[in-house]
Amino acid sequence: MAPVLQPQPSSSSRHPRVARLVAVGDELLSGDTVNTNATDLAVRCRELGLTLDRVVTVRDRIPEISAAVRDAASADVCFVCGGLGPTSDDLTAEALALAAGDTLVRDEAALARLEAKFAAMGYEMPDINRKQADFPSSATIVPNPIGSAEGFCVTVDGTPVYSMPGVPRELRRMFDDEIGPALAKRFELDAAPRRIYRAIGRGESSIAKLIEPIVAQARKTPGLESLFVHYRASTPQVLVVLEAPPSASVDVPAALASLDEAVLGAMSPALYGIGEATMAQRVVTALERANLRICTAESCTAGGLGATLTDVPGSSAVFDGGIIAYSNDVKMALLGVSEADLEAHGAVSAPVAKAMAEGARKATGSDLCVGITGIAGPGGGSPEKPVGTVHIDVFDGEVHLHKKLQLRGNRGTVRHCSQQWALKLVWDRLCARGLASPRCE
Ligand code: ATP
Repeated sequence: MAPVLQPQPSSSSRHPRVARLVAVGDELLSGDTVNTNATDLAVRCRELGLTLDRVVTVRDRIPEISAAVRDAASADVCFVCGGLGPTSDDLTAEALALAAGDTLVRDEAALARLEAKFAAMGYEMPDINRKQADFPSSATIVPNPIGSAEGFCVTVDGTPVYSMPGVPRELRRMFDDEIGPALAKRFELDAAPRRIYRAIGRGESSIAKLIEPIVAQARKTPGLESLFVHYRASTPQVLVVLEAPPSASVDVPAALASLDEAVLGAMSPALYGIGEATMAQRVVTALERANLRICTAESCTAGGLGATLTDVPGSSAVFDGGIIAYSNDVKMALLGVSEADLEAHGAVSAPVAKAMAEGARKATGSDLCVGITGIAGPGGGSPEKPVGTVHIDVFDGEVHLHKKLQLRGNRGTVRHCSQQWALKLVWDRLCARGLASPRCE
């Protein structure tokens, strides 16, 4: 979402270069495959300083691919992904030859490389793979060190068009090794500096109301006249991304950083971090820095919080383990939750979340422990405790930090939000102890 009265991407940036992607594949349009190549390329374009302004997805049909590429070729550079394989539905080389007014020719050196790749794997190359050595005659071949399909570059209406394999890891490798560096050399690229503010615990519109006056004021600052603000809401988190065109005369990253105080003042205590690092990454880093270890006692999230923490490389330095205590019996047997608490307050209650955290901490000897118990739905709710009621307790041996959530959404959303909120509470506790701050990555 973006407010209406925003400056348009500035013509003051020195070299705004526009890129477009044509993603090829019936599977992308049937819903069988998620177009992750678009995301991967979007990140890479932004980091390189290219403005990706359009992603078009087309079926494996020569006229459709060719027309989409001719249309996209009014940009400075065009990427095509998919359709370089050996099967009858892999038609990109033919389509790009058509778009470039070219013919397909067999490249004998490419054929030899292909045969060598098969030989190295101990296979005889099937005949149908020979077509992967056919390229438009004017093409420059782009090597593929980890797959059979080599990429290539042709020129359409004066615009370089790079064709890459659909396999995501091959596309990423080809872009990182060859295409990105070639474009950086060809165009004088400058990435637009940006600053990300991360919050949990405040809604998008309420944040926007606080941020807009800061942005309006900031646009009077040299270097930030074309400051652009993006709001990214992904329950329970809201990101505010401030972005400004690069400048030869102003230190734009420093100008953006000068807004920190105002943004922190406006968004605290929801604001937990400034920068690229996620909540889980920050928690792991802060725990490691403080030489503290953590464990989890999870009911409704059933190990999701432990999984989120251990997604972070290096988490073994801080994560002891978790106890999934779904049933009351396991809550009592492994965590020492009392039958009296369960009967008096129910499994989804503050006393039980507290007892879970205490019990897991006792069982593991960790410094901090998180207890989570809730009703993820769709069944199990009641008028007193509707679906989405979740209790989280963070205990560090001194203080219990407790939060009762009343979440909306389906089972997946309730579980995801519970995990994110649990991390936020751990973070808040670390901040209260002076062991973390929003400025720490
Ligand atoms: P291959 O040599 O494997 O045939 P290719 O260039 O022909 O490579 P495709 O056949 O189009 O590529 O796709 C290969 C694999 O990559 C398939 O599993 C496909 O679903 C996946 N894929 C294709 N395009 C994308 C995309 N845009 N995002 C994510 N995955 C994709």
